[in-house]
Amino acid sequence: MSGQRVAKMTTAAIIVAAGRGLRAGGGLPKQWRDLAGQPVVAHALAAFVGMTRVLVIHPDDRAMAEAVAGDAMIVHGGASRAASVRAALEALENSGTTKVLIHDAARPTVSPALIARVVQALDHAQGAAPALPVTDALWTGADGRVTGTRDRTGLFRAQTPQGFAYDAILAAHRAHGGDAADDVEVARAAGLDVVMVAGDEANQKLTFREDFARAAQALNLTGARMDIRMGNGFDVHAFCEGDGVWLCGVKVPHGKALLGHSDADVGMHALTDAIYGAMAAGDIGQHFPPSDPQWKGADSRIFLTHAAEMARTRGFAITSADVTLICERPKIGPHAVAMRQALASIMGIDVDRVSVKATTSERLGFTGREEGIAALASAVLVAL
Ligand code: MG
Repeated sequence: MSGQRVAKMTTAAIIVAAGRGLRAGGGLPKQWRDLAGQPVVAHALAAFVGMTRVLVIHPDDRAMAEAVAGDAMIVHGGASRAASVRAALEALENSGTTKVLIHDAARPTVSPALIARVVQALDHAQGAAPALPVTDALWTGADGRVTGTRDRTGLFRAQTPQGFAYDAILAAHRAHGGDAADDVEVARAAGLDVVMVAGDEANQKLTFREDFARAAQALNLTGARMDIRMGNGFDVHAFCEGDGVWLCGVKVPHGKALLGHSDADVGMHALTDAIYGAMAAGDIGQHFPPSDPQWKGADSRIFLTHAAEMARTRGFAITSADVTLICERPKIGPHAVAMRQALASIMGIDVDRVSVKATTSERLGFTGREEGIAALASAVLVAL
């Protein structure tokens, strides 16, 4: 052991992934099936990153576990759920753990807020677990027929992670012996007090095939796995003689024109570079070299079309674009709506996702002296 000691993380998370449930289809236990590009277990592990993590598995799943475990400890489970949890608890002995969260791998959409509620409740209780009140009517039934109703008052749906004072739950599991539905049952059998914290409807347990589509959607909606790319662009063109300037796809009458190899649409160039930038895909000069005579006097919509198509081809949606033109004149305001519409139509997105605005530079600098126009742009791309 080296002299340097890393500060101990005192909260541990046990991810229980030892089950063999095949009801969800796919020929693999559900926790190893793919969800939004990764095994379900990987999502559950990621939710507890930063804690000491223990992944409890069936020995047959060792190779799959090693591929996703990262710095998590891998422990082989036992014949029952309780035996699996106990094996993980035993593995944490002498690790300095004071609080432990026990979570079913089949709940991969658990939120940071829910985890925090459980951890915080453990400051004042030996056990804490998320629960949701039962809101649907409850029936008994047999042979496809309703045979009775049940009062739902005081009934709750149990979720995980269930959190406990480590020493107390280890002792409870050692004393318990047999199997149990969950760790709250084990804790209560040992006389531990367990408080309920607010559960989360999105923290659903994957059981059936349909649950996977819902969970994948939830992962995207929460942004937990959303791949968002942001890029910016900047461009300048000098004035020259002429009777108008092309700005963001609109010809604006003016006593001058803009000088450039193409039509010198400075706003569209900045936006095109922002889209390339978001994809780390170079810039306009790289895709359309100024040395190439075929781009002389080119309509800049060719460039923006190329960038937008590249984004689509790579699986991105352009979700917003924002262009700022910097000049004393011409006045941009009267043309801003037409510019937004022109850019939106080239990119194939809604006009309310495209902003064009302008500012002067208070007569300072080259734009203030009306020697040229500068443009800034940003674009946000989201992987589909
Ligand atoms: Mg340019």
